[in-house]
Amino acid sequence: MLSNLVYTGYVEFPAWGVSRRKGHHEPIISLETFERIQMRLHEGTTAAVRKDLNEDFPLRGFVLCDDCGQPMTAGWSKGRSKHYPYYLCDTRGCECCRKSVRRDEIEDGFAELLRTLQPTQELYGLAKAMFTDAWKMRASEAIRDKSELENQVRGVEKQIQTLLERIIETASDTVIKAYEGKIEKLERQKLLLEEKVDRISPPTRKLDDFIEPALALLSSPWNIYENGNLPFKRAVLRLVFADPIRYSLKYGYRTANPTIPFKMLASISSVNGEMVRPRGVEPLFPE
Ligand SMILES: [Zn+2]
Repeated sequence: MLSNLVYTGYVEFPAWGVSRRKGHHEPIISLETFERIQMRLHEGTTAAVRKDLNEDFPLRGFVLCDDCGQPMTAGWSKGRSKHYPYYLCDTRGCECCRKSVRRDEIEDGFAELLRTLQPTQELYGLAKAMFTDAWKMRASEAIRDKSELENQVRGVEKQIQTLLERIIETASDTVIKAYEGKIEKLERQKLLLEEKVDRISPPTRKLDDFIEPALALLSSPWNIYENGNLPFKRAVLRLVFADPIRYSLKYGYRTANPTIPFKMLASISSVNGEMVRPRGVEPLFPE
């Protein structure tokens, strides 16, 4: 399934001399993704499959033991009549090894941590303006990228044309074979480039699609986290924290390292209702 080109909306059948071309069916994945998968397959690397992902312990693997820096593990311990959920450090030699922490303690503490990252209403407004600005910048970049890619397509077409002309002029079968091989490579390159061109769509209509989910996360990471399923929760963790967070048996959660957007929001504070820019940060809007 992974190496079947047909899912990209393209077809090819080398045995019949049918080179890669657009089919008449809807693609499921992009050609670029397909090529990336092929590269991965050939590299022989396998993506790590996390065996320890579990709905019961969404923070397992993400919270590190502060003493040894290794991810804490989690599980259920058997009580007399009930099972109790807990997290613990399982590193041999660590001071905290096998000392369990109640799940509530780990997860309530985390909830508090995430809630502190929630910006005020005015900061939210500022963030929205920043996003809109960044979006407009990206839009003009996209237009530039598109014409650059179109130039590249024309360049490849020209190379193909030149090779075709050379084939006509040559009598040697080996040389013709070599040219044909090269042309096929170029044709593939061209398809990839054309797909990229197609994917750069005028972004104006998509502003809200893009901005709303991002702002929703920025405005209340905790709500998004709490209401999401496990993969969603893990995604929120990666979007909000630049590093795994550390938990100490003695001191609880240590200072977390949020990702840039949350760091920016946290570094801007409000005094008497006016925005205060942290030192060293350039103004975003003319004052
Ligand atoms: Zn430890």
